[in-house]
Amino acid sequence: MKPIAEAYKDFPILTRTHRGKRIAYLDSGATTQIPVPVMKALETHMANHNGNPHRGAHVLAMEASEAYEGTRDVVQRFINARKREEIIFTRNTTESLNLIAHSYALKHIKAGDKIVITVAEHHANLVTWQFVCRVTGATLEYMYLDETGHIKDGEMDKIDASTKIVSFAHVSNVLGMEFPVKELVERAHAVGAIAILDGAQSAPHQAIDVQALDCDFFVFSGHKMCASQGIGVVYGKYHLLEDMDPFLFGGDMIEYVKEQTTTFNEVPYKFEAGTPNAHGAVTLKAAIEYLEQFGMDAIHEYEQELVRYVLPKLAAMPHIHLLGSANPEEKHGVIAFTVDDVHPHDVATIMDSHGVCLRSGHHCAQPLGAYYGVPASNRISMYIYTKKEDLDQFLEALKTVRPTMGLSE
Ligand code: PMP
Repeated sequence: MKPIAEAYKDFPILTRTHRGKRIAYLDSGATTQIPVPVMKALETHMANHNGNPHRGAHVLAMEASEAYEGTRDVVQRFINARKREEIIFTRNTTESLNLIAHSYALKHIKAGDKIVITVAEHHANLVTWQFVCRVTGATLEYMYLDETGHIKDGEMDKIDASTKIVSFAHVSNVLGMEFPVKELVERAHAVGAIAILDGAQSAPHQAIDVQALDCDFFVFSGHKMCASQGIGVVYGKYHLLEDMDPFLFGGDMIEYVKEQTTTFNEVPYKFEAGTPNAHGAVTLKAAIEYLEQFGMDAIHEYEQELVRYVLPKLAAMPHIHLLGSANPEEKHGVIAFTVDDVHPHDVATIMDSHGVCLRSGHHCAQPLGAYYGVPASNRISMYIYTKKEDLDQFLEALKTVRPTMGLSE
C-alpha cells in the first residue's frame, strides 16, 4: 500500500502560493484537488483514444467505448454493486438525485404518500423532493436533530406506512456526521419504502458496499474524490432501474425510433442520453485506482487522525462554536463552526489572506441553518493530501480573525 502521508506530493496545486503564503486547502468537501496520475490518464486518453463512445465501428470510437465502459466496471467493484448495469453515469450527485426523482419518484409517488428526509440534507436532496411533492401531491416530512446533530428520539417513527421514499446523506456535508444508515434503511424497507443514500461526502472517504448497506439507490460525485468535475454516479438496484422511465431523451438511449413512438435501450443505457462524459469517466477510473493504492479503510483512518488532532484544539478556542457533535469519533473530515460576532464571509476573507482555503455560507443546507438558528457558518474539510501543517496554519490564522475585526482575541 502507498503511504497516505506521501499523497500530497502527487498534487501540483498544493505547491502554489497565495499572497506569499503556502496554500492550506481545506475545502475538499466542495471539490477535491487532482493528482498527477489522474491528469496523466486524461492526457493519455485525449492523445491516443479520443472518440465518441458507443458510436462508430472505427478504432477510436471503440477505444473510447472501452475506456468509458471500463469505468463502469471499476465503479461496480468500488462500491460492490451486484451488476455493472446497476451503475449509471450522470454529471454529479445533484443530477443523480434528479434522475431518481424524475424516473422513479414521478412514476411511483402519488397524493397522500410521504417522502421522509432529515433536516440536514443538502439542497440537492431536498429541493428535488419538494418538486416531486409539488407535482404529485405527496408530503415532504423532516426528521429533526438534537443540538449535537443526532436524529432526535421518535423522529424515525415518521417513517410509517404512508412513506414511499426515505432519502438522507450518508455523511452530512455540514455536521460531518454519519446518520444511522442501517436503522434508517431497515425502517424504510419495513414499511415498503425505498432508501436513497446521498454518498457525496462518504464515497470519497470510506469503503462503500452497497450490498451491505442494502440501500436502493446510492449517489456520488467524481469531483469530490480526485476525478474531474462533470462526472457522477447513480447506483440503483437492477429491478428498480429496469422498471423506471428514462430521464433524458435523445441519442444512445433508444432501441428503435419510429415517427411517433420509440422503444428504449436497456439499463443502464436508457438513462445515458447523448454523448457521455467519457473524459470525466476516464478521470473517475484513474481516481478510484489512485485512491485504492492507499486503501479506502486507510484513507478513512487517516482522516479520523486529522479530526482527532484538530477538533479538540478548535473546540477549545474562545468564541468558536461547532455545529453538530464535538466528539472526534463521531465526526468525519468535515467540521463546521462559527466565530462570535464575525460574519463567516469575513472569516473566509481573512483566512484567505493567510493562504487558508475554507468554505463560508449556508453550505447548500439552508433549512438546517434555519433550524439551528445559524444561517451561515464556516467549514473546513479534509482529504488524503491534508497535512497537520495545513491544520496548524488554519488554527494560527483563525486566532487573527477577531483581532483583525477589532474584537478581543
Ligand atoms: N450532497 C451532499 C451531501 C454534498 O456535500 C454535495 C456537494 N456539496 C452534494 C450533494 C451536491 O454535489 P454536486 O454539487 O457534486 O452535485
